Amino acid sequence: MMNAAEPRRPRADRLSGVRGMNDVLPADEALWRRLEEAVADTMRAYGYRQIRTPIVEPTGLFVRGIGEVTDIVEKEMYSFVDALNGEHLSLRPENTAGVVRAVIEHNLLYDGPQRLWYAGPMFRHERPQRGRYRQFHQVGAEALGFAGPDADAEVILLCQRLWDELGITGVRLEINSLGQLPERRAHREALIAWFEAHREQLDADALRRLHSNPLRILDTKNPAMQELVENAPQLSGFLGEASRAHFTRLQELLHSQNLPFRINPRLVRGLDYYNLSVFEWVADIDGTALTICGGGRYDPLIGMLGGKDAPACGFALGVERVLGLLRAGEPDAASGAQCDVYIVHHGDATLEAAFGVAERLRSAGLDVVLHCGGGSFKSQFRRADASGARFAVIIGVDELARGEVSVKWLRADREPTQADGSAGAGAAVTATRQESVALAAIVDRLFDAIGEND
Ligand code: ATP
Ligand code: MG
Repeated sequence: MMNAAEPRRPRADRLSGVRGMNDVLPADEALWRRLEEAVADTMRAYGYRQIRTPIVEPTGLFVRGIGEVTDIVEKEMYSFVDALNGEHLSLRPENTAGVVRAVIEHNLLYDGPQRLWYAGPMFRHERPQRGRYRQFHQVGAEALGFAGPDADAEVILLCQRLWDELGITGVRLEINSLGQLPERRAHREALIAWFEAHREQLDADALRRLHSNPLRILDTKNPAMQELVENAPQLSGFLGEASRAHFTRLQELLHSQNLPFRINPRLVRGLDYYNLSVFEWVADIDGTALTICGGGRYDPLIGMLGGKDAPACGFALGVERVLGLLRAGEPDAASGAQCDVYIVHHGDATLEAAFGVAERLRSAGLDVVLHCGGGSFKSQFRRADASGARFAVIIGVDELARGEVSVKWLRADREPTQADGSAGAGAAVTATRQESVALAAIVDRLFDAIGEND
């Protein structure tokens, strides 16, 4: 009975996660792990080693490394002043700058060129929508200290192998060359002149960028400006001999490995530090083209961040977008919990035995869920069925006194037919086979049973 003197405590307000930042629930875990394993295998196959850098970096790293007049630094960064010491910090919006910082700080290039990869969350304050989140995940590779188009071709081939490994088809490769700075400057002058001459057709964003970052105008998503952008002077007309040779060689290498691509002269990367080769992998998701991976060469960056000049190239892929493709290809890919054995037990002193059996089975390499919280055998079996386990081990008082436990086959489709004529393929899911086993022999019996079914 409620005591009138003690008013009921109001239920606390329900808290929800930050908009645009997602929980990955267990049902999706199998898909995430599949991607993570494919990434780790593929990176290893190309000699890339993993590097883990902090999620928080000095804000100045991104301002210098990405560029002040980029979308990311202008309006997408989560930046704050550390109240405890006044440091200006940001959640990383991408990880190339962080990797390069670490490489410089630890002098890794002293040992020669480095092939590195990373994976983890990135943060950008964008308008959340499908395929665009405020916390999202990237996997990236960076080949540092390599100047030639061979490294460009290698990171592109690595991506293709990853798609193959994941069974993703229908991603298209687009490439372009951004040339070198003097070439881009000449092109930039020509671009500004072109847009100046058509000033009346520019939107507010474009006007703002006209003199700060006119290249970025080419990236506009405004349909009204498409024609203007299509007819603008192209960078390819401004490339010098060395830049053209680099780009040609990359194309030859891709051809030699039968990797199809399209040259997209309008392909620019949002970040200031790219030069020469740039590329994107584009996929159609529900009829809209979405970039799942972008990369290229960024020779100036290491010097810009205070290191000894060294060439580099790499890419970053959007994990959520790649997972979207995987899901679209396999609607049933999400899976329930899976374990090998579910242990049910009932009666005095069976719990100690149940713990003992569970630990022995785990030591032998099986995945085991031990029923917790008591309840009747019937209710425990409901949990056992829901667990996806192939076997239940049943521990009851009487059997235990005889030094025995029982094994029950939970999945009719896995049941050996000779044991029960009625339980062949397509039989009802209710499991019927059950047998007593000496407690001491339970590990061996289960391994035999697994062997029978495989
Ligand atoms: P976009 O043009 O789509 O904004 P971007 O040029 O900003 O992409 P990059 O900085 O090159 O993207 O990041 C590489 C990849 O990371 C993108 O191709 C995309 O797959 C993914 N990505 C970028 N921003 C987000 C985001 N906000 N949410 C989810 N994935 C993202
Ligand atoms: Mg963006």
